Amino acid sequence: MDIEARLADIKERIATTAEKAGRKAADVTLVAVSKTFDGDAIQPVIDCGQRVFGENRVQEAQGKWPALKGKTPDIELHLIGPLQSNKAADAVALFDVIESVDREKIARVLADECGKQGKALRFYVQVNTGLEPQKAGLDPRETAAFVKLCRDELKLTVEGLMCIPPADENPGPHFALLAKLARECDVEKLSMGMSGDFETAIEFGATSVRVGSALFGTR
Ligand SMILES: *Cc1c(COP(=O)(O)O)cnc(C)c1O
Repeated sequence: MDIEARLADIKERIATTAEKAGRKAADVTLVAVSKTFDGDAIQPVIDCGQRVFGENRVQEAQGKWPALKGKTPDIELHLIGPLQSNKAADAVALFDVIESVDREKIARVLADECGKQGKALRFYVQVNTGLEPQKAGLDPRETAAFVKLCRDELKLTVEGLMCIPPADENPGPHFALLAKLARECDVEKLSMGMSGDFETAIEFGATSVRVGSALFGTR
């Protein structure tokens, strides 16, 4: 399959799964995760009409996205990887959505930068549903208070929650937990599901799925 066929196949699987779950295909956004792939690999996917992309490193994204966005201004770029404070200004300048907000310090720096740059980004709070010590994300029990702080005090637009379940576990319970937390925190969107489990994530209510290798190939 070429990349056009792979994109069509993934979109078809998203639509079929959404409809089986009693949801609309249009209610699930495909975030095409283009990390490690260069502009020449990404451009054909843009040419097929894909507009939402995810990257996990600020510096890598800076090397390719200004040119790609220059040609196609309606692209929406999501940061899905860990963010350090010293990269926050660059991240606010380049990205439209940051999905990896997981601690007060970075939330404060992002709020400052949005003010300085006059930009209104959208944010997701990342939750470490498996409480894995090596993984980014908030303790599920701290999520509601953190969302409240981001919204009420820092005036960040928190529109959703994001998680990456433990690689060696059935992801279903993690997706269910994220959906429950979203209801408790009154956030609308759920970013969950990757190449291997995006259909399961849609069954549990994902509003966006982050698909990399199934679309671009193995990294
Ligand atoms: C790389 C990555 C993905 C995509 O993973 P695939 O298994 O290649 O689809 C999704 N989410 C995050 C946070 C990632 O870093």
